[in-house]
Amino acid sequence: MPAEKKLDQLITTSSRLLPFIDALPDAVVIVDSNHKIALVNSPAGEMFGHPVDILKGSDLSIIIPKLHLDAHRQRVSGYFQNPTPRPMGANKKFCGVHADGTEIPVDIMINTIVLDGVQVAMALVRDVSYQRELEERLIRESVTDEMTGFFNRKHFNNQLKAQHSGFIRSGLHSSVILFDFDHFKSINDQYGHAAGDIVLIDTAKMIKEELRPLDVACRIGGEEFAVILPGTPILNATRLAERIRQKIEAMEFQLEDTAFHTTVTMSVASFLSSDQSYDSLVRRADKALYSGKAAGRNRVASQDSLAQPS
Ligand code: GH3
Ligand code: MG
Ligand code: MG
Repeated sequence: MPAEKKLDQLITTSSRLLPFIDALPDAVVIVDSNHKIALVNSPAGEMFGHPVDILKGSDLSIIIPKLHLDAHRQRVSGYFQNPTPRPMGANKKFCGVHADGTEIPVDIMINTIVLDGVQVAMALVRDVSYQRELEERLIRESVTDEMTGFFNRKHFNNQLKAQHSGFIRSGLHSSVILFDFDHFKSINDQYGHAAGDIVLIDTAKMIKEELRPLDVACRIGGEEFAVILPGTPILNATRLAERIRQKIEAMEFQLEDTAFHTTVTMSVASFLSSDQSYDSLVRRADKALYSGKAAGRNRVASQDSLAQPS
């Protein structure tokens, strides 16, 4: 029988299922082995923004984003070869496409059934926009410092670990700037805790403007910050640190009628071929920062100024 006739017959046969699948809250899409839609329920029509009669007989590409189409076809074919009910791809984030072109995050469960001797794949499609947004927000929040909007220490460690791997793999030079406010306790003591908070927030705002989009600005402790500068040699990192140091020194912070100033001590470090892990760089940066504090604060200390890199 020609494929078109077969599809017409399949559409007629599968329509008998309609009262059942129309009662389901999720979208149901039944396709044949040529990826042609034999049947959809009303929730599918609503989800994808097409009249049900338009979807019936159409190619699956009408509801799948172009970019994912080939991978999707391969997966559907995989179900015809190995027909067991299962989610479509573990840990995969699937999207459908609405008639207006917007993408709809979906989870897909799929199985094959035989209708009048023809094997078809039946997909249960659930709109998971809410869950995806929630998941993305929770992930974002878990790596973000609420006060400054910078990344937190956990993210700093993860990113630096990745930079270290990049350095080992390809010798890509990345640097880190670390800084800690000078005599921050005395700002809190003199002007109150809110004044200290203003310093942290305003400094973060200023730094954001100094950085490239790929730089990773982090608040790694109470009044300690770190910036990862991918692909940046230590000399350039030192110049940037010096510019930031001067800007902080020149900033006037304001709490109600009181204006005040502060300074930071900074350190700069980059990966060495002897570094077994990212920790070694952090230790060098910490040491250099400590030496900068000991030398009188309000300065940039480089790992190169340390007697023996470790
Ligand atoms: P040093 O120059 O040696 O760094 O002196 P310091 O006073 O800055 O000493 P230290 O770094 O040990 O002190 C940090 C202080 O920062 C102590 C803590 O109360 C204060 N601090 C930490 N987090 C916050 C914060 O979120 N807000 C405010 N206002 N203060 C904070
Ligand atoms: Mg301090
Ligand atoms: Mg500190």
